[in-house]
Amino acid sequence: MGIIRRAVLHSRPGKNSEPVAENFFVEEANLPDGIAEGQVKVQTLYLSVDPYMLDPELVDGHLSYFLGAVGMPGLTALFGVKEKGHVTPGASQTMVVSGAAGACGSLAGQIGRLEGCSRVVGISGSDEKCSILVSELGFDAAVNYKRGNMTQKLREFCPAGVDIYFDNVGGDVSDVVLSQMNQNSHVILCGQISQYNKDVPYPPPLSPQTEAALRDKNITRDRFLVLWYADKHEAGILQLSQWVREGKLKVRETVTKGLENIGAAFQSMMKGGNIGKQIVLVSEE
Ligand code: NDP
Repeated sequence: MGIIRRAVLHSRPGKNSEPVAENFFVEEANLPDGIAEGQVKVQTLYLSVDPYMLDPELVDGHLSYFLGAVGMPGLTALFGVKEKGHVTPGASQTMVVSGAAGACGSLAGQIGRLEGCSRVVGISGSDEKCSILVSELGFDAAVNYKRGNMTQKLREFCPAGVDIYFDNVGGDVSDVVLSQMNQNSHVILCGQISQYNKDVPYPPPLSPQTEAALRDKNITRDRFLVLWYADKHEAGILQLSQWVREGKLKVRETVTKGLENIGAAFQSMMKGGNIGKQIVLVSEE
């Protein structure tokens, strides 16, 4: 038997009280030396402590939201829109979001609206997703990029052109959006998932024609990483939590049960099998 140490939550801070170190204690436990077939042995190198560990109330008990709407994807959507979107309330801006039914995209469109865009249009890979974007998540319109004439549909849904483009996908979809962007408009370069299976640098090179259009129209297209805004994460989580609890930010999840299905869940998400955040449920609370 090997001796291990484990940190255990001993007590919760009382109502309106601050957490203290004594809420946790460290105890020793025995771990068998050998491991059986099908088991793995892991060693913890680092642990994180985060504001949201204090209070499941932040998500009204939906702990998985910390992986999505009130976690990294939510912060990505929030900081992308706030830091790179140049949203100006009252300016009648149209925002387009690609990957719009995914974890980041479904939130980015809603946040664009909350921040002041007057029109929000999503692009996603199925009619079902498009219908959910409009009927549940408050998008004004949505285009299925796998069906019909996307160029024409987008022109129809964005009659005044595109002012802000939250780009999750890159590739052909983005070329169409970029061709309909207005003078002095802004691309929020969140990700380029359509290019991730290709051996290209990040961000992948644009066609000379698209490069020229960006230059001629003075379109900004800045990269950003959610990790760059670590100093704003706590405030961001509180903002997202508030919007979720007020019902202003609607949350969608696709839950796959069982650790053994993590590979299948990843493969499915990369092919568009998810609506909202793809979660793997490992054990019931
Ligand atoms: P999603 O929940 O959006 O899942 C991925 C989605 O991508 C799929 O559901 C699928 O939806 C879409 N997709 C897959 N292949 C293609 C394709 N060839 N063309 C168009 N769409 C495609 O994932 P996330 O929200 O976690 O990530 C979205 C993007 O945000 C990614 O590019 C990711 O790298 C980026 N990201 C960036 C961060 C940052 O800090 N900048 C942080 C986190 C994520 P569909 O059915 O519509 O095809």
